[in-house]
Amino acid sequence: MASSSLFNPSFSTLNPKPRPFYRNPKINHRPLPAIFCTSSIFDPSSPITNNNSPPHPIKHRRPADENIRDEARRHRSASDDRHNFSAKYVPFNAGFDSPESYSLDEIVYRSRSGGLLDVLHDMDALKKFDGAYWRSLFDSRVGRTTWPYGSGVWSKKEWVLPEIDPDDIVSAFEGNSNLFWAERYGKQFLGMNDLWVKHCGISHTGSFKDLGMTVLVSQVNRLRRMNRPVVGVGCASTGDTSAALSAYCASAGIPSIVFLPANKISTAQLVQPIANGALVLSIDTDFDGCMKLIREVTSELPIYLANSLNSLRLEGQKTAAIEILQQFDWEVPDWVIVPGGNLGNIYAFYKGFKMCQELGLVDRIPRLVCAQAANANPLYLYYKSGWEEFKPVQANSTFASAIQIGDPVSIDRAVYALKNSDGIVEEASEEELMDAMAQADSTGMFICPHTGVALTALIKLRNSGVIGPSDRTVVISTAHGLKFTQSKTDYHSGDIPGMGRFANPPVEVNADFGAVMDVLKNYLLSIL
Ligand SMILES: *Cc1c(COP(=O)(O)O)cnc(C)c1O
Repeated sequence: MASSSLFNPSFSTLNPKPRPFYRNPKINHRPLPAIFCTSSIFDPSSPITNNNSPPHPIKHRRPADENIRDEARRHRSASDDRHNFSAKYVPFNAGFDSPESYSLDEIVYRSRSGGLLDVLHDMDALKKFDGAYWRSLFDSRVGRTTWPYGSGVWSKKEWVLPEIDPDDIVSAFEGNSNLFWAERYGKQFLGMNDLWVKHCGISHTGSFKDLGMTVLVSQVNRLRRMNRPVVGVGCASTGDTSAALSAYCASAGIPSIVFLPANKISTAQLVQPIANGALVLSIDTDFDGCMKLIREVTSELPIYLANSLNSLRLEGQKTAAIEILQQFDWEVPDWVIVPGGNLGNIYAFYKGFKMCQELGLVDRIPRLVCAQAANANPLYLYYKSGWEEFKPVQANSTFASAIQIGDPVSIDRAVYALKNSDGIVEEASEEELMDAMAQADSTGMFICPHTGVALTALIKLRNSGVIGPSDRTVVISTAHGLKFTQSKTDYHSGDIPGMGRFANPPVEVNADFGAVMDVLKNYLLSIL
């Protein structure tokens, strides 16, 4: 019996249309570079050749007294140091020959003029290798446990922190998150056949913040080993940053200190830094207030600042963009929709895509959409003014609590990303984002409210015809739905005034056969 329309044969029309062959010429018959078969340790200084050397059929386990770091060290050849990849801090938007620059081993968050910094890679050194080389190199590292390449971030190490010693890396093998084909949601609610959700929140601490934090904490680990004065690491947070920071610090034995706005984050988010042993300060203010305090504190004490002002994190976050291209076998999607608060992530996506284009892995970049909660929408207002004048706003409370930010640190980065990707900014009211989340959940997803904001942007752009029915579109899901069970519960139990169009509350029924049968009969009649 077809108790659910998911199993109804008429849904067979939902089967994926065969993609036109010219969009994906390489799938399944791409020649495997030799590195696929021989060793998972790859020497980037030797070009890939498709020679006919026989593959090693069996890889023996490492000796019992050796761990995976030791094993990677043993395999690392002197040649690893020959390639001269490097990166440094420059003022945001300055070139590689900017007169102002800093080593990544310096502790510096802002440029001399008080502006943002950016990590700039020596693109000429990276360009000595062509796009095919990088694609094969990155592809060869996916799904393995080789230190540190088992991480989706560190599998792109040359583009992230090229100079860090793998021994200093602190990683939970984050990244490699799934790219979910939203078949039913796309078809049923949007008439789309090529809609995807990149589940960045299916991650070690439940949000994409892990991608950036592995990079930041690894660099801090390196600084501490160099005896630089870093006693601990601190951040202000709307929840997910502190969860990621405390987990990575704890795994490296580095003290972490987090400033959280009292009563503004979910229990799941609060319990993470507590469980991971951070010093948690619950402060009677909002995120912007916590941010101001931590900046004052870190200028006085040897505590390293882990907020997204810190450009190291964006180097890790940008790998999600590279990963999307990789998951599409290096085909470029048409749209990528990112929920934005402090606005570092939207720039990180831009940067990841742009590097892939500049280094010849792909020939274009997707159009970016930044989605904001209407209750915290300074970027949206700026965009609507035709980029006339930026005004911070007082952020109002929103269910998308991680983006309740009125004065985003990375505003300049976001504007740059949007202007250079023919980008768009959209907003979502509380009702819109909760309804979008509920509808998506009803098709088998279990997304967070921020992803609801991104889906609302998609709905609006589909309705206005800006995004076409067969445009390949990726919605970035930023956190795990399980971090936000309270707002979902409130929505479905009708506890939020004026909300609950798609609520699905449990039916209370007596422990009595007849009563249960009545409920079931009514239900079955209603779905027939
Ligand atoms: C941090 C965060 C965001 C916002 O990212 P920004 O880089 O601050 O724009 C969105 N969603 C979730 C779940 C987050 O944790």
